Amino acid sequence: MALTQRDDVRDELLEDVYASTDLSVSVPKYRFPKSERSAEHAYAIVHDELMLDGNSRMNLATFCQTWSEPEAQRLLAECWDKNMIDKDEYPQTAELERRCVHMLADLWNSPQSDNTVGCSTTGSSEAAMLGGLAMKWRWRARQKAAGKPTDKPNMICGPVQVCWHKCARYFDVELREVPMEEGRLILNGKEVIKRCDENTIGVVPTLGVTFVMTYEPVEEICKALDKLQADKGWDIPVHVDGASGGFLAPFIHPDVKWDFRLDRVKSINTSGHKFGLTPLGCGWVVWRDRQELPEDLVFMVNYLGGDMPTFALNFSRPGGQIACQYYNFLRLGHDGYRKTQEACAETGQWMAKEVAKMGPFEILYDGVGGIPGACWTLKPSAKVTFNLYDYADRLRSRGWLVPAYSLPPDQEDVVVQRVLIRHGVSRDLARLLVGDMKAALEHFEKHPVSKSLSSSEASGFHH
Ligand SMILES: *Cc1c(COP(=O)(O)O)cnc(C)c1O
Repeated sequence: MALTQRDDVRDELLEDVYASTDLSVSVPKYRFPKSERSAEHAYAIVHDELMLDGNSRMNLATFCQTWSEPEAQRLLAECWDKNMIDKDEYPQTAELERRCVHMLADLWNSPQSDNTVGCSTTGSSEAAMLGGLAMKWRWRARQKAAGKPTDKPNMICGPVQVCWHKCARYFDVELREVPMEEGRLILNGKEVIKRCDENTIGVVPTLGVTFVMTYEPVEEICKALDKLQADKGWDIPVHVDGASGGFLAPFIHPDVKWDFRLDRVKSINTSGHKFGLTPLGCGWVVWRDRQELPEDLVFMVNYLGGDMPTFALNFSRPGGQIACQYYNFLRLGHDGYRKTQEACAETGQWMAKEVAKMGPFEILYDGVGGIPGACWTLKPSAKVTFNLYDYADRLRSRGWLVPAYSLPPDQEDVVVQRVLIRHGVSRDLARLLVGDMKAALEHFEKHPVSKSLSSSEASGFHH
């Protein structure tokens, strides 16, 4: 090789990443790239672009985990190559999944926690689909046995997360969603009973409604359904969407009866990646006992020469989430979960008090008795020149993600703002947010958004 050529090669090797032709020109965005580039250059391009995402730790809108111990992250990285569906090749991952199911059944007071069935999922959404399917199958079998039609199933719920809208549409079930009213933002027994008939496959109360963070009264709903059964003979099961509450109530609201202590509760879903404190991609669904999961929904896969039952919508999925969930159960135990959730709940209550003191806000949820956090709206009487969407934008200029949104029907005119206090949101971090919220109020006093908007017009304004 000629000396000059050797210099060219060296130049290329030593070249600064940003001086390279890969990074000094624009890369293709929507056409499939023609040629290869170095791993280092490709990494720099992708990494830099992702800087424009928000800072997840300052995203107080999400229920999902944004902080985890380095040990959990290590387990996740160690398991990235293990496919949890390959039960034969990775029997210990399958075993950890099974242990988690039984531990959850125990946590949720299953009468026979070693005999329950359940599985991990990608999150509560997949878990909800599985719970909904099982209810539909059981109802259909009952109807068929009684020689009755099976073409018009319905399901009753309050203001649910979108996964239940999907479940109903995908599986052809009519969703009877009880609308919110002024003064009643969640489901109750009376509203459920009004909508039941013999085609009701189940009722789905939410433990920790996403919009306002409070628990729906599962025990009251079950009692109302008991009475309905005595009157009409319809035995309508309950599936609890415990996406958040499944990992909160057992630790910080032990007196709330919502789980398998109530006979009518046949299945429960939860998000491991919310208050289960596990990194993203982990959910669970557990049935009260084996009979509640119809056998023809279960597929047998080969497992250590035997057959292992699986019930899931997905196939391949990394095993790390299961390993991390099991790690958390061992690492924290009941005491550790309680302390963690208690600290979050207390900070949520503190936030609600601070926000109330600021003046223009009316607290809709004060952080007591539901999901850790707070939720507020603008007082109709507030003399302000901004709406909550403006306020959210202003907070975003400091990096905080505290979005404003309108409530679902029939309270669409109410615009609220909500903060979730999760593992990793310390009192001091919350204090910094409160400081920025006060500064934002002062800012709008000096720089009104628009003098022509009254506060009521402004707060009803939708983006
Ligand atoms: C978050 C949430 C879901 C969806 O859960 P994923 O784990 O995000 O799939 C369903 N229901 C409720 C009540 C939720 O809070």
